[in-house]
Amino acid sequence: MGNDNTLVKVENLTKTFRIKRNVFLKAVDNTSFEIKSGETLGLVGESGCGKSTLGRCILRLIEPTGGTVEYNGTSMQALKGEELRQMRKKMQMVFQNPYSSLNPRMTIMDSVKAPLDVFNTGSKEEREQRVKEIMSVVGLDSKYLYRYPHEFSGGQRQRIVIARALISNPGFIVCDEPVSALDVSIRSQILNLMRDIQNEFGVAYLFISHDLSVVKHISNRIAVMYLGQIVEISDVDRLYEEPLHPYTQALISAIPIPDVGSKRERIILTGDIPSPIFPPTGCRFHNRCRYATERCRKECPTLKDCGIGHQAACHLYD
Ligand code: SF4
Repeated sequence: MGNDNTLVKVENLTKTFRIKRNVFLKAVDNTSFEIKSGETLGLVGESGCGKSTLGRCILRLIEPTGGTVEYNGTSMQALKGEELRQMRKKMQMVFQNPYSSLNPRMTIMDSVKAPLDVFNTGSKEEREQRVKEIMSVVGLDSKYLYRYPHEFSGGQRQRIVIARALISNPGFIVCDEPVSALDVSIRSQILNLMRDIQNEFGVAYLFISHDLSVVKHISNRIAVMYLGQIVEISDVDRLYEEPLHPYTQALISAIPIPDVGSKRERIILTGDIPSPIFPPTGCRFHNRCRYATERCRKECPTLKDCGIGHQAACHLYD
């Protein structure tokens, strides 16, 4: 299924946590998708559905239980020690809370320069020069370089974290809810910055968010996750105009429409969110789905192509 442009290829990735003896939580269950060079794949779903675990497994910040991840044709699972460390330069992560991502005792210069120091890249002067360049890319004046994280606003701190992720020139960044801790007024500034960076450097993003209106503005394609499984993947426009999976339909129906004259039927999900420790049999969504049949309770649907790369995991499309 890969093509020449594929940068990250995830196949059957699974992560199971042992909660206690004989009790397991399958946080990520057999997920497969690809991310092309320079594109943004949005990953959406309710909190606790396994999105962040999936992002961390791709980078091997936590070890997957099964499946494979390839970056530019190289298997992440095959890498050890120094090779894995070198690969981490190319695959970075931006976390939700920029304050806890920065060491409060380190100046911004030292924090942003740290990835270059770790890999001993260039001379001290070259590293400092690179920090100044990257600070200008994220829109911060280099006069702030010797200040500490608490002296900055939330939006400025997230710019600093983005600068640190960019400094080793990565091809791919996992962005885990990068704007959800920020004031609404500065979210669009950070999203615009991330888009500008992508246009300039061709970096690919996996953009994780619980908020469909946020991912819409930055993603080329979107994957929807429910209880550890990907239930739909599509180009962004098709997903919002013609969602196929009943779960996606419900999520999209809940997005407020700015035009007061327009109306959209709001689909209220009934039933409780099931425990990921004891997920429902068959389709995991069946206890909340208004189209559920007997087959749905017994048989788990797989992700199938429903045309022009639009994939959904639902028996309605067999
Ligand atoms: Fe609903 Fe059945 Fe489709 Fe699951 S497989 S989303 S229960 S119709």
